[in-house]
Formats: sequence, C-alpha cells, structure tokens
Amino acid sequence: MEKFYYSVSIPVPIRKDFTYFSYEKIKAGSRVKVIFNKRQLVGVVNKKTKKPNFKTTEIKKLLDECPTFNNLSLKTLNWISDFYIHSQGEVFSNFLPPKLRKDFYFKNPETKFNEYEVDSRDKSFTLTPHQKKAFKFLNKLNGFDPCLFHGVTSSGKTEVYMRLVEEILKKGESCLLLVPEISLTPQLEERFKKRFGKNIGTYHSRKTSKERYEIWRKSKSGELRVLIGTRSSLFVPLQKLSLIIIDEEHDASFKQQEGLKFSARDVAIKMAQDRKIPVIAASATPSLKMLNLVSQGKYKFISIPKRINDKNPPKFLVLDSHFMDRKSGIDDNLLPLIDKTISQNKKVLIFINRRGYSPLFKCGDCNWEAKCNSCNARLVYHKDTNRLRCHRCDTSYGVPNNCPECDSTKLTSPGVGTQKIESFLDEQFPDVPIIRLDLDSTRKKGSLEKLLMKIKSTKKAFLVGTQMIAKGHDFSDVEVGIIIDADLGLLSHELNAIEKLSQLLIQVTGRVGRSGKSKIIVQSNQVDNEYLNKLSSGDYLSFSQSLLREYEASNLPPFSSMAILRASSPKKSNNINFLNKARKYLEENTNCECIGPLPDIVSKIRGNFRHSLLLKAQTMPTLHKNTQNLVERHIDKQKRLDVRWSVDLNPIDYQ
Ligand code: ADP
Ligand code: ZN
Ligand code: ZN
Repeated sequence: MEKFYYSVSIPVPIRKDFTYFSYEKIKAGSRVKVIFNKRQLVGVVNKKTKKPNFKTTEIKKLLDECPTFNNLSLKTLNWISDFYIHSQGEVFSNFLPPKLRKDFYFKNPETKFNEYEVDSRDKSFTLTPHQKKAFKFLNKLNGFDPCLFHGVTSSGKTEVYMRLVEEILKKGESCLLLVPEISLTPQLEERFKKRFGKNIGTYHSRKTSKERYEIWRKSKSGELRVLIGTRSSLFVPLQKLSLIIIDEEHDASFKQQEGLKFSARDVAIKMAQDRKIPVIAASATPSLKMLNLVSQGKYKFISIPKRINDKNPPKFLVLDSHFMDRKSGIDDNLLPLIDKTISQNKKVLIFINRRGYSPLFKCGDCNWEAKCNSCNARLVYHKDTNRLRCHRCDTSYGVPNNCPECDSTKLTSPGVGTQKIESFLDEQFPDVPIIRLDLDSTRKKGSLEKLLMKIKSTKKAFLVGTQMIAKGHDFSDVEVGIIIDADLGLLSHELNAIEKLSQLLIQVTGRVGRSGKSKIIVQSNQVDNEYLNKLSSGDYLSFSQSLLREYEASNLPPFSSMAILRASSPKKSNNINFLNKARKYLEENTNCECIGPLPDIVSKIRGNFRHSLLLKAQTMPTLHKNTQNLVERHIDKQKRLDVRWSVDLNPIDYQ
C-alpha cells in the first residue's frame, strides 16, 4: 500500500513540525491523533511532505471529516507561529474550541443557511448625516482595505456596524465582530440579537466548552453568519467571511499576555489581508499605532466627530488633591456637588483603578507592610471577606491582629480601593443605592448582567468601579463623573502609560452626561501636568496628534519597534546570566539596541524571579529577523536551560 507523509503540528513547546505517515490521503488543516513521546496527542496536519530519511510512525486516527482549518486560515495561522516565534502546534491548539483539542471525531455538519432577517421595528430611526456618510464610506471598502473608524462615544458607531452587517447578510456572506471582552458588554450582544435574531452567535472563553463547540459547528454549517467574539474567536470557521470589524481597537485586552503572546487586532488585520477582505478598526480613542498608519496613508480614515444627541461630551475639571483629606479617597469639597446631583435623581460615577478596600495593609508603628509570601507584591485588604489578597497569584491570607514585626495593634489600611469608596458613600448617603463594578463583584456568572440591570432600573445611584466601568456601557442619567488618582497613570513606568491613561479618561467621559450639562472631575496632585491639561478639552484626536509628535521625537513606538525577552526562575542569577548572554549575542551579531537585563516591576511571582531584556530596532522586519536569529541561533543551541524564557513582540507593557 502507498504511504503518504505529513508534517504534523503538535501542541508541545517545540517550534517544529513532526513527520508521520498514513495510508490515507489527508487534507492539510485536518486534526489527527498521533503518538508523541509515548503520549497520545491531537495535532493538525500542516502540509504534505516527502518521505524522510528516518523512520516514521503512523498517524493513529484522522479526526475530521473535512479539515478543521481551511487553506486561508492555515496561511494566517502559519504566519502567527512565524511572527510571534511560537510553536505551530500550540498556535493551532490556542484557537481550537476545547472539545476539538481532544480525541473527538468531527463530522462535517450539513449546510444549513438561515434566511436573513432584520427586525424593522428595531431599525426605526434614520441615520444621521454623519452616520450615513460613514456607512457609505465603509460599505464601499473592497478587497483588503484597512480603515480606522473613529467616532466619539455615543456617536452611533454600533448602529453603523449593524447596517454594514445587514448588507453582508443580504449577500449571504459572514462577518466577524471582534470585541475586547464581550462579557463586559452584554448590551452589544443584546442589540445585535434583537436586530438579527438567530444569525448571531457569540464566542468567548467564559462560555462553556459545549457552548463553544455548538458555535463552531453552527458557523461551519453556515447557520451562524455573524459572530461577536473575543480573541479566541478569530478562527471560528464562518462561511464566506467577508468583513472583519474590530470594536474598541485600542483595548489592551486584545493582547494575550500568557502563552502565545499575540495581538488579536493585528492578527485580524493579517487575516483580512490573507483573505483580501476589508477590515474596520473602530474606536472613540484610537491607538497611536493605527493613527500613525492613517497619517502614513496606509489606512483609510473616517470619523463621526459628534454625539448622536449633538451634545458635546463633558469637559474635565482638574481638582488639586494635594491638600485634601485622603481618608476616603473623595475630596470633601465635592460632597455638596454629589449631594445636589443625587437630590436631582441623577447618578454619580466614581472611577478608581484599584479593587479591594485598600491596596496596602501596614503597621502604624514600625511601617511593616503585608506582602505575599511567593510574589514581590503588597497584599490588598478586602473588607467584604475580611482577607488580605495577593492580586498577582490570588492567594488569600488571614488578617493579623498584631504586627508580626513589633506586635503593635496599630494596623491600618490607608490606601483607597473600590470597596473603601463604597463604604464611605454608604456612611455618607445611607439611602442611596451603590453599585460596584469590579472583578470581585462580577466573578460569578450572570452577576454583571444583574448589576447592569440594576443600573438601568434605578434613577439616583452611585456607580463605583474600575476600568470595567469605563468600557462601552450605555448608562443613562449619569451627571457627574469623578476620577480618583489619575496620577497613577502619569507616574506609571509602562511605555504607553500616557496613551492608556488618555484613552481611559476619554472612555470614562463617554459614560457620563447625555444632557450636555454634566461634569467630569479629575482628582490629581499634578494639576499642572501638561498631559492632563491638554486632555481636559476632551478632544482625543488632537491630543493624540501631539502625543504622536512627541513619540516621534523620542523615537518610541510606533516610530520604532520593541520586543521583550523575559526570563523567569527561582534564582536571580540564572535570569541575569541568561539575559546577559543574549545581549552579548545581539550586540555581536545584530544591530538591535538592548536595554537591560532589568528586574520586572513585579519582580517575583509564585516564587519565580522575573527579569527582562528590552530589544529595540527601527523597523519591525529588522527587529523580527534579529529576534528570530537570537532564538534560533543562540537560545535553541543551548543545551540545558535553567530559566524559562519567552519573547513578546510589540509588548503592551514595557515591564
Ligand atoms: P456608539 O457605538 O458610538 O457608542 P451607539 O450606536 O451605541 O453609539 O449609539 C448611541 C445611542 O444612540 C444608542 O442608544 C442608539 O440606539 C442611539 N442611536 C444610534 N443611531 C441613532 C440615530 N440615527 N437616531 C437616533 N438614535 C440613534
Ligand atoms: Zn509593627
Ligand atoms: Zn502572590
């Protein structure tokens, strides 16, 4: 019998394919069961290959009736492995629903096409002239035609997406709407379902394995033709995919920080290029990267500069918090304004980017601070559970009655987090509902939806939350927004701290004030900070242009490219040695600029020290080639490594 040979990508951290044979002809993109190091694993046939000059084993079982990944998907998936310098098998596995990562035979579903249906009652209003212009422009995009769609918050972008999706459905094609964290914006899903009924599916990692499998199957059959999903949804097999929309393009959640460190936004754009279809990256606060591509003429640009109701978004008032009483986190001078707003039956939104009661727990006598045993991190006091928690490794500790250093009983929690604000407001305004939105209050499935419903059904209320409260929600009656400790962003060491802070502040203003009379107050002890002052006009686009010019002058991304080589191990010296050797290789063999090795900001997690080396080059192709050389010609050549290492291209976080 004739033997056929195949390169199979196996989900192990080795960056090469393995050759197996079969007596069957197998199409590339099919899942197969193979024996690897005496274990049964599910791999993906990447391509056909020639008979090798070594002994091969047989593929145990073909697991797909039709290939799981078609040739277009395969092309992009191979690019991911190459670009992010990551094991091909792990790349495939990253994008498979859990069920298909296992030894499970996938029978190709029968084609089933839902008629397109649109709820016309839901579509009662006519588009504004700005929306019309944007719709016409975007609907004309043809072939690979990347476009940045800017629209201030509440400018009616989502309505424009829905009109575009309708056109796609009319043509019998499919659309992927990529969102940063769908579980945070159930309203978006609701709106699409209301308009398009059963053509809509949603896909994200909070869904059960069974639900994800169902979506995969229904996409393959053609039953689902609009998918709203997070980064794990990129390769769900939609039939005739012909448009990708990336909502909130600037959002950091598009970057996967663990394992395969990829940007779902960048992959989506590559995918559109491979498929020769349009891609629309939308945001009220576009990333500097996209804005720069627009100014270079590489991407198209369309903008809706006004809110639907024509009211201007609120301006910022920067309030000097130098001399305020910091016990509660909210400046006492604001209490009359809060009181007035509440008595008018309106809502007050308070944003603080720290959950828990206090980010530190310390001794008032000797300054001892509670720290995690296995991370270099302070413990956060949680009042609701009366525990100290490490936000790095999630370990929780009991609260001591006495200081472990000096036995004093003067233990305090002087910092401010969402829970402390909540307690303070509860004391001051016992009759007003307080709704807290943070990771702790939304952990349980369905709890976020409940909280959002409560916000909808109450008139006067306090909304207290972390960045979770800043994202995409459509709140009514919020008249005052207070931003606490905006300075955290200004002082951060992250490379793009100012960009992130400005996006966050503008997004918060988007949740506030549909009436045109609303206020945003930024409590800061840097009232003279030029960034805060430039931003206070609320004009993100002109702010970002001046920021771009600054970055250009200092040759920072997007005007140069960066990567991080990170090492982690229980011994500091192992990390330093490993990174120093890498640096030496780069200096001798490439034209990369190196900074480090330096300890990471969180220099120890779960007992492992973390250090990194920052690599910088003028362009991405140069940086990529040099990084690849470093990995293949230097790191891979070393016999036994005493560190765990990873490469992060285009890191979001500097450290
Ligand atoms: P964005 O996505 O830019 O934040 P949305 O599409 O959510 O904006 O629109 C904001 C609000 O305005 C929504 O409640 C939406 O139903 C409403 N809206 C959108 N377009 C129109 C229109 N042309 N006429 C009236 N209301 C509209
Ligand atoms: Zn003490
Ligand atoms: Zn810890």
